[in-house]
Amino acid sequence: MRRVFAAQHALTRGSVEPSLAERKERLEKLRDMVRANEAAYVAAISEDFGNRSADETRLLEVTLVLNGIRHARKHLKGWMRPSRRHVDIAFQPARAWVRHEPLGLVGIIAPWNYPLFLSLGPLVDILAAGNRAMIKPSELTPRFSELLAQTIARTFSEDEVHVVTGGAEVAQAFSGLPFDHLIFTGSTGVGRKVMQAAAENLTPVTLELGGKSPAILCEDYNLQKAARSIAFGKFLNAGQTCIAPDYALVPRRNVDEFATSVIAHARRSYPDIAQNPDYTSIVSDRHYRRLVEAVDQAREAGATVLSAGEIRDSNGRKIAPTVVIDAPADGVLMREEIFGPILPVIGYDDLDEALAFVSGRDRPLALYAFTTRKETQEKILGRAISGGVTLNGTLLHVAQDDMAFGGIGPSGMGGYHGQEGFRRFSHARSVLRIGFINVFEKLGPPWGPLARRVAS
Ligand code: NAD
Repeated sequence: MRRVFAAQHALTRGSVEPSLAERKERLEKLRDMVRANEAAYVAAISEDFGNRSADETRLLEVTLVLNGIRHARKHLKGWMRPSRRHVDIAFQPARAWVRHEPLGLVGIIAPWNYPLFLSLGPLVDILAAGNRAMIKPSELTPRFSELLAQTIARTFSEDEVHVVTGGAEVAQAFSGLPFDHLIFTGSTGVGRKVMQAAAENLTPVTLELGGKSPAILCEDYNLQKAARSIAFGKFLNAGQTCIAPDYALVPRRNVDEFATSVIAHARRSYPDIAQNPDYTSIVSDRHYRRLVEAVDQAREAGATVLSAGEIRDSNGRKIAPTVVIDAPADGVLMREEIFGPILPVIGYDDLDEALAFVSGRDRPLALYAFTTRKETQEKILGRAISGGVTLNGTLLHVAQDDMAFGGIGPSGMGGYHGQEGFRRFSHARSVLRIGFINVFEKLGPPWGPLARRVAS
């Protein structure tokens, strides 16, 4: 790791920045690598999880990476174009512009829940911006991480892109390397450690973290449609999605109907749990136990638990879609990010109460609100701050190539994807070129009338 780091780092200091054609060629190599190895990635991820729906891997990981590459290739020329800036009359004749230059060497630390998309998604923007990269994927997806290391090594030279595999110790050493930028996707707790390690080197960080993303159902919206959409966003990847709706806020008189409806939609999507290839396993025994215990704790505290099937299958680490009404406020389900197929439903009497509930907590990564009324949408957007938002749906804002994706406060800092991603991994370098004749040539002590004219 240190050897490759030193080699890549030296190259970023010695070489000319890559041209548009070279950047596009790297993106094309990445695209061809993903296409050629798609089936192998899908199989490796599924084995790592126990079972991961092949369609989910193709839709939510492969397609999103390929879409990001296509968007970057299409717009890269425009993004790279220097942007001309205004020069005040006092400084004329002169020209000013901003060049977006590569930062150099960027580190990527990725989690296990979407191991392909969260390793290669950042890489697309990093390569588009003309950088070199090192990737540290998660130790919880060892087959995928190994396959990624092999396929990257076959596609890129070691000093262009390199994958480092290993556990938390390797990750810790990785985050201590003096990268020109470090992007970390993972939990808020580890994010803190990464930022501390990076601070030692004054390495800027992008942190893509987690949190409890709420879904708010308003009175005016069709309950069935909202329940279907929330069930879709929650039970995909068995809830192990950073932007999954964590809990739902529902008008109090609709709580029971909403909960039943979510379960009915889940049953239609997953008629069988244990043997269903479409229903993803919980990634590890530790996470499986954590989730089962959280539901048990809520039930013991008097919560109502509804489930779309046999609730647990410890062999396959599957937990059926579950809805919990009246989960205790001080229990695990309402204190911590759930990251599993369990949806607490909380009743509210008026929207202000629901918004106070959201704004009184850590700012979440995502917010979902279901209302067709423009003024209610504006009220919710203004009062409940989050990283990103989908109105009248769930998850889909992350799939927009032309919008930044990221968190705020404890859910992260700095967005990427599309042009914002290109800029995140670029240095916006301001250049002022002074013209042939310039009044400032004559400016300097001893101060005289010219200084007073310029200052006025
Ligand atoms: P995690 O924080 O446990 O691990 C993420 C990565 O950090 C792994 O590669 C791990 O090896 C590494 N790591 C562990 N200890 C480290 C240390 N001391 N220093 C540096 N790196 C270290 O997260 P996870 O369990 O893999 O993923 C789940 C979390 O990620 C959830 O909180 C989820 O919300 C969040 N997440 C966020 C996004 C987003 O885009 N914002 C996307 C997916 C997941």
